[in-house]
Amino acid sequence: MHSPASSRLMAEIDARRAALIQLTQDLIRIPTLNPPGLNYREICDFLAATLAQAGFTTQLIRAHGAIADSETYPRWNLLARFKGTRPGDCVHFNSHHDVVTVGHGWTTDPFGGEVKDGKIYGRGACDMKGGLATSIIAAEAFIAAYPDFAGAIEISATADEESGGYGGVAYLAEQGYFASDRVQHVIIPEPLNKDRICLGHRGVWWAEVETKGRIAHGSMPFLGDSAIRHMGAVLAEIEDVLYPLLATRTTAMPVVPPGARQSTLNINAIHGGEPEPPEGYTGLPAPLVADRCRITLDRRFLIEEDLAQVKSELTALMERVKQRRPSFQYEIRDLFEVIPTMTDRDAPIVRSVAKAIERVLSQRPEYVVSPGTYDQKHIDRIGRLKNCIAYGPGILDLAHQPDEWIGIDDMMDSARVMALTLAELLA
Ligand SMILES: [Zn+2]
Repeated sequence: MHSPASSRLMAEIDARRAALIQLTQDLIRIPTLNPPGLNYREICDFLAATLAQAGFTTQLIRAHGAIADSETYPRWNLLARFKGTRPGDCVHFNSHHDVVTVGHGWTTDPFGGEVKDGKIYGRGACDMKGGLATSIIAAEAFIAAYPDFAGAIEISATADEESGGYGGVAYLAEQGYFASDRVQHVIIPEPLNKDRICLGHRGVWWAEVETKGRIAHGSMPFLGDSAIRHMGAVLAEIEDVLYPLLATRTTAMPVVPPGARQSTLNINAIHGGEPEPPEGYTGLPAPLVADRCRITLDRRFLIEEDLAQVKSELTALMERVKQRRPSFQYEIRDLFEVIPTMTDRDAPIVRSVAKAIERVLSQRPEYVVSPGTYDQKHIDRIGRLKNCIAYGPGILDLAHQPDEWIGIDDMMDSARVMALTLAELLA
């Protein structure tokens, strides 16, 4: 901000305040609900037109054959690239364009993009159409201030982050779009707040555990074998042994909120015995001994833990229950797994963004790790690109809530940080 070029850059950001608001509103007004994956093509077409006007080369990429891709709900992604005048690094901004369901309790139109008291409201305002718009404005301002920059800037808007990212970033990574000769730095503008750098996330293991029994008449349960009672024993063992054990495992990862600085386990669902009656059925249930009971487990683990150990810990628990219950039979099925990731604090992208935060906000950044995963997992694991962080405006707690909003001043500050980062890496 001290050189003439960087004051020019800040002036270019200031001049784009109205454009930033308009772009955020335009994006919110395209309801890209996931599931099922609505209007993906529409938002990609809109962004392609916007970025082409700014001089970017744009590419629409459909994730053919990815999970959830179909003719009815095609998984469209947009990739835009602006090449500088000289060779150099490429800085890539990746945002997901999908949003979660609206839910109840809104007092504003979820797809209206209403502006009130310096905030823009709507589903996806903070997670993460506001961040996407911010990165576009930052890139445009940088290109205007440094027309002879080196390297390249890429902006992607990708599908399905909210449902695993397989039709989005995972697909792009598989196709080589994050290869080391194409991209060297990645910023994911998720709403972690304008003064925070998110280095990575904890690991995830989802599993389905089933106990088996034998069906019989409910008036003679001794002739059957209740899978629900078996599951009760499993749940008691989880409660008495596993939960206290997980509470003792803490981490050096700076996870926020601090409650997530340990291993956690959630039981997402439980189903046993007869299925739920269809809506409108007014009769009584049938007297049956449950022959199946199932729970879905959501285990979040730390960089200090090993996935194989996490899995064998559950198997050992089931074996202990089995020793006490002669007829006990069970099955564990893997549903989903992600290894924890944490970018080094000395990585070039971390240092550049940290420096920019200090200049814009006159404070040191806070380094955080996310309790849940996001698309960094695919960039790390499939793309093998470690120089990646999440940095963007917005308050994470508002994500997925009614009356979700993003602060306009926060977006402007983040745009300044992103633009200065580009200047640091490419000017
Ligand atoms: Zn998000």
